[in-house]
Amino acid sequence: MSGLKIKLSGKIAVVAGMVATLPVILAIPAAFALQVKVNPSRPKLGDTLSVFINLDNPKTDSNPKVTVGNKTYPAFEIAPNQYRAFIPTTPLEKPGTRTIQVTGDGQVRNLAVWVRDRNFPVQRITLPPKAAGVKATEYELKRVAEFKALQTPKKYWQGIFLRPNAGRITTVYGVRRYYNGKFAKDYYHRGIDYAGPQGSPVVAPAAGRVALVGKVSQGFRVHGNVVGIDHGQGVTSIFMHLSRIDVKEGDIVRPGQVIGAVGSTGASTGPHLHWGLYVNGQSVDPVPWRYQEYK
Ligand SMILES: [Zn+2]
Repeated sequence: MSGLKIKLSGKIAVVAGMVATLPVILAIPAAFALQVKVNPSRPKLGDTLSVFINLDNPKTDSNPKVTVGNKTYPAFEIAPNQYRAFIPTTPLEKPGTRTIQVTGDGQVRNLAVWVRDRNFPVQRITLPPKAAGVKATEYELKRVAEFKALQTPKKYWQGIFLRPNAGRITTVYGVRRYYNGKFAKDYYHRGIDYAGPQGSPVVAPAAGRVALVGKVSQGFRVHGNVVGIDHGQGVTSIFMHLSRIDVKEGDIVRPGQVIGAVGSTGASTGPHLHWGLYVNGQSVDPVPWRYQEYK
């Protein structure tokens, strides 16, 4: 968060981390009790919105509620009386205004946020008429869906995310596709591809708990050998097409720890790492997470 925050409670004013005793000379309206701020202030499609909520004197033990349309996003306490909820945005959404409704301590705030459009690269793919694509198994889909739905209260990550492989980026987040001239309206590239060579290390970009280990032999036909890390509070990372897996479910990993190696298992045409970052179940652009800290 940026900017000067003044919190008044009794005779103590806290200004930018400095504590000073000041006489209260102004009447502070009671409406100050619920404050809301959204980062970034000018988001674009694919960005993760952070909604910061300050409750001056919480009268209840329940966390504030954040809703957009018919979706509710969990808010977690990140400092005394301060809460944060993440709202994912994706290339499948329309740009424009979102109304974010925050409810806390019996008060309601509505914030309008403008989400800007963004030009995602487009690929044109030609497939032979009867191309038999690889189909995911029911088991694979169920395990991956359960993983992406995690909203673990514990926050494991801290600071910026590391790049998970040293290879160059071959496909960025959000690429859209035409198949045989027809726009695939539900498709977008849900992650970043790194062209690390076969067997090169894949590291955890941030701390977390290994919540998914799937193998081709178990039916992970599309993902291939896959690792999913739960970073907590609705943030998860998935690593696909691995040649080797070095962790097991339940392991706690630290940033930079090797979790496996690049491969070409599953639906893959050559060795590469696919890293997908999910926020409350939706694939968001990992790039901002690489360069700024999400508190
Ligand atoms: Zn990919």
